[in-house]
Amino acid sequence: MGAASSDITPKSTITSINPATKQPIGEVPDMSAADVHAAIERARAAQREWAKVPIEQRCKRVLRFAEVLMERAEEVIDLLVAEAGKTRLEALGMEVVVIADLTRYFCKHAPEMLEPEPVSLHLLKHRASYLHFQPRGVIGIIAPWNFPFSIPIGETVMSLIAGNGVVLKPSEVTPLIALKARELFIAAELPPDLFQVVTGRGPAGAALIDGGINYCVFTGSVATGKKVAAACGERLIGCTLELGGKAPAIVCDDADLDRAAQAITWGGFANSGQVCASVERVYAVDSVHDALVDRIVSHASSLRQGNAGVDEVDVGAMAWDQQLNHVEKIVQQAVASGAKVRTGGARGPSGGLFFQPTVLTDCKQDMDVMRKEIFGPVIPIMRVSDEEEAIRLANDSHLGLLAYVFTKDRDRGKRIAERVEAGTVMINDVLNTFACPETPWGGVKQSGLGRTHSIHGLRDLCETRHVNHDRIAMAREVWWYPYKPSTFRALLRGARLLFGKRFWQR
Ligand code: NDP
Repeated sequence: MGAASSDITPKSTITSINPATKQPIGEVPDMSAADVHAAIERARAAQREWAKVPIEQRCKRVLRFAEVLMERAEEVIDLLVAEAGKTRLEALGMEVVVIADLTRYFCKHAPEMLEPEPVSLHLLKHRASYLHFQPRGVIGIIAPWNFPFSIPIGETVMSLIAGNGVVLKPSEVTPLIALKARELFIAAELPPDLFQVVTGRGPAGAALIDGGINYCVFTGSVATGKKVAAACGERLIGCTLELGGKAPAIVCDDADLDRAAQAITWGGFANSGQVCASVERVYAVDSVHDALVDRIVSHASSLRQGNAGVDEVDVGAMAWDQQLNHVEKIVQQAVASGAKVRTGGARGPSGGLFFQPTVLTDCKQDMDVMRKEIFGPVIPIMRVSDEEEAIRLANDSHLGLLAYVFTKDRDRGKRIAERVEAGTVMINDVLNTFACPETPWGGVKQSGLGRTHSIHGLRDLCETRHVNHDRIAMAREVWWYPYKPSTFRALLRGARLLFGKRFWQR
């Protein structure tokens, strides 16, 4: 059982369940708003000291976290398997390695990324400007259950490097892994109050925004994201919103079908399909549709599913019962509307929260399975006449996080990618760019606002402040008082020269 904070005497608790066995594995306090606000104040006090530490030193200290993580990787992996139902390979590759690499990357590059940046002035050449990037204060991070380590801990590492304190509200479904992460930060000898974890349900997340944080990084559903944006607006604090996805995969007539089928199978079923970037719908051009489907069905039906805590499996459990119920319902609705189950289609091994890797064909654009986020191990496939139809249908969505294009012709792939409305488009691959901390992560349309990862995500965790200074000492500026007709005439003449039609163009 994890303890969220020594100062908490919980009135009620939350029980964490192993989804592969449905057995309880720990309890955490369901914190009140007062508990959350107290955690923010502790983080704020620690942050004031932390912000005085030069960034190179901060990076050196945060780097120790990556070392501790690698020393204790098995502990983290075991907990990810037990609390989130992941396979061991997914816990290692999609969570632990992602964070180890992100930490090393930002510890190496953040000092340069946050160095003051000169701005060359367009008009006023006798003056100069530069931007400097200051810590915001306390960053509130609200996280989902599908990547309970790699999502919030990446944001935590970046926030700390930028000089902030952090208060993390993990999902009620996966609180233990957040507490384990805090344990590792403390083992890495980072100031204990700098990174707080507040356990609780939705109201604890709302209390976090209400409690005086300086910025919010939220990852979760579109519905909650809208509430978070409204609450941040009310308090005039900024937020980054990483919301849902409905990633299309466009398979062109010249695609390498063996590669496309393997990529789509993995992209649809990895993490039991509970990935915001999962392949959620496939548009296969008529001439390759049948061959692609045969390959995907063959891969899907050979996957081993079960409790990764005891067996070697390819597909683990779903993280909680509500998600499993949602997936079952959306598949049943699709079948009732004419979709064909080519493999899977029902709950998996008994005893845990499993849904079989499922491939659906004969899907139509108006089915929920093609329009709403499934967030489960289901690949719906639709036959399209050509790539134009595929692009049109791919863009016919309120979401735009990731999208995928399969073609052997890279230029054609790029042309299609540039027409697809998504934060990231990958050609001949799926999912992976979350593991590239140097690239921006985020969506267009209702998939979110702002970016995590990359220099853009790091700078969003800072206040961008502007300093403007003189380059040439002058007694006064010409537009200062007193206003004189001669000044007006001189300024107008100058403006015409600078901005009017140039004499060589006349
Ligand atoms: P939710 O929106 O249900 O919850 C996200 C977090 O918000 C949880 O910690 C939740 O707490 C908390 N919360 C709930 N109500 C409030 C509130 N009123 N104010 C503040 N916080 C609140 O999402 P899920 O956890 O179900 O995550 C799945 C969703 O996340 C999917 O839509 C998925 O696409 C998206 N996602 C997006 C990613 C991206 O990078 N764009 C990455 C991963 C997931 P509690 O759980 O305790 O209720």
